[in-house]
Amino acid sequence: MTESIPQSFEELGLSAESLAALRQLGFAKPSPIQARFIPIAITGRDCIGQAQTGTGKTAAFVLPLLERLDLDDRRTQALVLTPTRELSQQVADEAHRLSSEHELTTACCVGGRPIRQQIDQLKSGAQVVIGTPGRVIDLLARRVLSVENLKCVILDEADRMLDIGFRPDIERILKQCPKERQTLLLSATLPPPVERLAQRYMIDPERVDLSVKTVAGDTIDQYVIPVDPDRKFRTLVQLLKQERPQQAIVFTRTKRGAENVLKKFRGKLPGAAFIHGDLAQSARDRIMLRFRERKIRLLIATDVVGRGIDVSTISHIINYDVPEDCDDYVHRVGRTGRLSSTESRGTAFTLVCRDEGGQLTNIEKRINRMLESYPIEGFETQRPVARRLTVDELESAEPAAPDEEEEEFGFMLT
Ligand code: AMP
Repeated sequence: MTESIPQSFEELGLSAESLAALRQLGFAKPSPIQARFIPIAITGRDCIGQAQTGTGKTAAFVLPLLERLDLDDRRTQALVLTPTRELSQQVADEAHRLSSEHELTTACCVGGRPIRQQIDQLKSGAQVVIGTPGRVIDLLARRVLSVENLKCVILDEADRMLDIGFRPDIERILKQCPKERQTLLLSATLPPPVERLAQRYMIDPERVDLSVKTVAGDTIDQYVIPVDPDRKFRTLVQLLKQERPQQAIVFTRTKRGAENVLKKFRGKLPGAAFIHGDLAQSARDRIMLRFRERKIRLLIATDVVGRGIDVSTISHIINYDVPEDCDDYVHRVGRTGRLSSTESRGTAFTLVCRDEGGQLTNIEKRINRMLESYPIEGFETQRPVARRLTVDELESAEPAAPDEEEEEFGFMLT
């Protein structure tokens, strides 16, 4: 599209109610994805938006819905599928805020929470259903959710849904949806499986590309820390001491890795916790609430759970383990430097062992820039080139930190 890009919400064809809600929220002007996605989505056309959370993509699909749905009809007219329970909840919360001046009913249908409540919500009428594919299938099978009257299906973070293995579930759901409907797809990346899904289930979609290369990368300072595997944890400690993050997520590659990092702090770091997919949903919800309230300042997370987190006070992302897939890198660092951030900039550090040079190069190719080295005082080592270590080697390599460092953990996050 070459036409001029709308600079105000008024130009986007939104109702007076939506404009009032946006004013109350203090959104001064549309974000780039909103300015380009809303004018297409509001017409009912299929659209693919390449953008990640943090860019305002939720409002980009919720605002057009508010204009297109028949709010006098209590039946389910829109379905939003997301990869994680946390993201579903975030979308539901954002939809709630944006529709404060409308009479919109929503239901958040995710696994790990009592199904009874969701059934009651659906029975009392939910015009927009937001959920994870597994629970949506379950509710369809129980015949408490009907997709017969859908006007719009939204696939949010489509790339991640496919990574997690939701493709069969998504296809099962889409096959039950009316053929005449709008499909909106949001994805940070568009690898071939996402393109195939779009080809099969979307009709001549318009495309809006606001991927990380053009957006988030500009608000995030990104560094690589060459690290000796034997001193990885201690390098992290030193980095935390140096940086004193307002709030940080430390990403590990495995669930066990996340637990191990926390264990190494031996309970001496108040305000630190881990989160991963093996925790019960109630525990995950509790941790996320405490993270939002800033009672947790350092959250150690795996990709699946961590990448959808939208907390505006996150100042630092630390990749304790290099992400396996370079798209994960993009998602991880995008947790900081966000549109809603109180800090306009974020910083991302990636700890790279000497044998992880190949992965580092892949990331640099993916983000189209070289990552500057950030040596940590007393822990300087060579930038990596050779063989990759296995996760087991990484996790077993390092002895526990000595006592004098333990003493100092407490002040790092205060
Ligand atoms: P999202 O990408 O949808 O996860 O949005 C990220 C954050 O940006 C959310 O907290 C939104 O409430 C906020 N946001 C969305 N649109 C705007 C806007 N136009 N101006 C300021 N903040 C916004």
